[in-house]
Formats: sequence, structure tokens, C-alpha cells
Amino acid sequence: MARLELALMLTMLACASSAVAMRRATPSRIKQTANYREAAELSAKLASEESGDAKRVAVIGGGLSGLACAKYLADAGHVPVVYEARHVLGGKVSAWQDADGDWIETGLHIFFGAYPNMMNLFSELQVYI
Ligand SMILES: Cc1cc2nc3c(=O)[nH]c(=O)nc-3n(C[C@H](O)[C@H](O)[C@H](O)COP(=O)(O)OP(=O)(O)OC[C@H]3O[C@@H](n4cnc5c(N)ncnc54)[C@H](O)[C@@H]3O)c2cc1C
Repeated sequence: MARLELALMLTMLACASSAVAMRRATPSRIKQTANYREAAELSAKLASEESGDAKRVAVIGGGLSGLACAKYLADAGHVPVVYEARHVLGGKVSAWQDADGDWIETGLHIFFGAYPNMMNLFSELQVYI
């Protein structure tokens, strides 16, 4: 089992998200929707709840759920440590280069405008414009 640093996993998520962004831009009006505003408020609330008592938190699994969880824990001042069983991050959204140099992607992924938390996460990571 590999122990991975937060910076590395966020970079991986950023790379995966950038690939999506190249194919389709974020819908222009998404930031005006109630859902998106709610997601942004929730994220800001998590970041504002920093208690000064930083905890080291184990996050099991480096898929989107685990990576997002680790990001919000870090925003709240904690120290997440992601434990991922495989040699790649991203879970069902992973991509890697095989021994021949070919890129392997685990399925077509589309991040719909109706996913406000995901869109807000992209925005906060500055990987989806
Ligand atoms: C072919 C395909 C296409 C899809 N297309 C879309 C799409 O277009 N749009 C969309 O929104 N969604 C899509 N989905 C769904 C989306 O991929 C998943 O909902 C999402 O990636 C799940 O993320 P997750 O982090 O919850 O779980 P996972 O991605 O399954 O991540 C879980 C991670 O935990 C690790 N793990 C498990 N147990 C342990 C353990 N004991 N110790 C350490 N690590 C562990 C696993 O190795 C894995 O990396 C698709 C799914 C598939 C399979």
C-alpha cells in the first residue's frame, strides 16, 4: 500500500481535470446557479472551521471521494494522509502510462454541469475554467 502526499494527489487530480477541461469548458452560467453557490458556501464553511487543533487523518482510498475529502480536510487545517491500494490515484477515474508508453484511461468520464460540488472543486483547484 502506498502512502501519498497531498500535493502529489492534488496534482494528479488537477491533471485529470485539465484533460476534461480541454474537451469542454465549464458552462458559463454555472456559477450563478443556486446549487453551485450552495457548494461554494459549504466549501468556505469547511475552510472556516479551522480549530487550531490540527489532526492527522487517514483517508482510505485515493479515488475522487478520498482526494476531495483530503482536500477539504487540508482546507480545515488538518493533515490528511491518503492510503491507496493501487499504484495510481484517481480510482475509477485513473489514467496511467503503460510500459509501451501508451496512456490507459479507465473509462469515458464526463463531469456534468449538474455536479455543483465537482465544478466548485475544479474551480478551487484552478484547473477548470
Ligand atoms: C467506466 C466508467 C465510466 C464512468 N463515467 C462517469 C462519468 O462520465 N461521469 C461521472 O460523473 N461518473 C462516472 N463514473 C462514476 C465515477 O467514476 C465514480 O462515481 C467515482 O469515480 C467514484 O469515486 P470514489 O472515490 O467514490 O470511488 P473509486 O473511484 O472506486 O475509488 C476508491 C479507491 O479506493 C481504493 N481502495 C479501496 N479499498 C481500499 C483499501 N482497503 N485500502 C486502500 N485503498 C483502497 C481503490 O483502489 C480506489 O482507488 C464512471 C464509472 C465507470 C466505472
